[in-house]
Amino acid sequence: MLTAPCTLADIRRKIVGHERISSEDALRLWHGASDAEIRDLAMQVRARFHSPSACTYMLMRIVNYTNVCVAQCDYCAFYKLPGQDGGYVLSQEQVFAKLDELLALGGDLAGFNGGFNPHLPLNYYCDLFRAIRERYGERLEFYALTIAEFMYLADHAKLDYAAAAERFKAAGVRWITGGGSEILTEDFRRRHSKFKYTVADYFEAQRAIVAAGLRTTATMVVGFDETIEERIEHLDRTRQFQDQLLSVPGNNGGLVSFLCWTYKPYFTQLGGIEIATSEYLRHLALGRIYLDNIPRIRTSVLTQNERALEGLLYGADDFDLPIEDEVTQKAGATINLQFDKILQVARDLGFTPTYRHVAQPQTVNA
Ligand code: SF4
Repeated sequence: MLTAPCTLADIRRKIVGHERISSEDALRLWHGASDAEIRDLAMQVRARFHSPSACTYMLMRIVNYTNVCVAQCDYCAFYKLPGQDGGYVLSQEQVFAKLDELLALGGDLAGFNGGFNPHLPLNYYCDLFRAIRERYGERLEFYALTIAEFMYLADHAKLDYAAAAERFKAAGVRWITGGGSEILTEDFRRRHSKFKYTVADYFEAQRAIVAAGLRTTATMVVGFDETIEERIEHLDRTRQFQDQLLSVPGNNGGLVSFLCWTYKPYFTQLGGIEIATSEYLRHLALGRIYLDNIPRIRTSVLTQNERALEGLLYGADDFDLPIEDEVTQKAGATINLQFDKILQVARDLGFTPTYRHVAQPQTVNA
């Protein structure tokens, strides 16, 4: 017997009753709920994990150690092909200078993100990460790679994902984040980054990372040409994957956080126009409601500037204050180093931002 589709009232009842919503419910919510309604529902789910006025933030820098890349994603304004003018690789000394500057500004988290550079051997990475751990100890934590880079490096070194994860772990790595996911549908990847990995590969690599005892996160980027259905598919795959991780004892909480940012279209081959902040906020809210198994939902100051703080009213509970990320800056992102001013925006919205130190030995945060 066919069952009638849920009405908006049914979906609301489900969320208020802590019941999980389906992909169909999410689609209906997206098209049918007002901004106020979706925001209110997201805040109800947020309240399961966080007190109403609490939020956390980190001061961090992305270190783009090389811009040489063979993946040729059409949404990227950052990369240079091997041999092309303007390609670079940072030395350890150049990386240290960036990390010293981060510490001097009060930050303690670096995220490494670069291209798929065929001329960089695995030892470049392992030596760098080992040297960072030796030089900075527990004063600074780092997200060593994104999953996309991790997969490329493993393939390039002819290692399976489990062996690659162990190699990085032995070099002092604790985190490999979920970056490079963009929109996790096979069709999106065929359209825009056909030399990157399949969605199945992505999750296989992330499973190996978690199994090795490393920590990881979920990410997403919206605002390319993806459909709402593709966005929901991404959320659904993420939720299913987290369910699988949480069903295995010892997986350390699985995906520690979900960060969504927005595509910057300037100087890219794909081009396009930026989505409105209001659309981003609705998507954050939908993410909070749908991802009922990920406690930390993060809003993106890097791509939405101060308006990202409104995400705290749409279900998010955490944000970064970034001091550099060349990948998004090349495509139009702007960085504001007036941290007090940004934090004041959060306070004016009724939140009490607390600094979240990732650089602590026993931390479970991300
Ligand atoms: S997004 Fe990353 S993988 Fe894709 S071209 Fe740019 S640097 Fe390379």
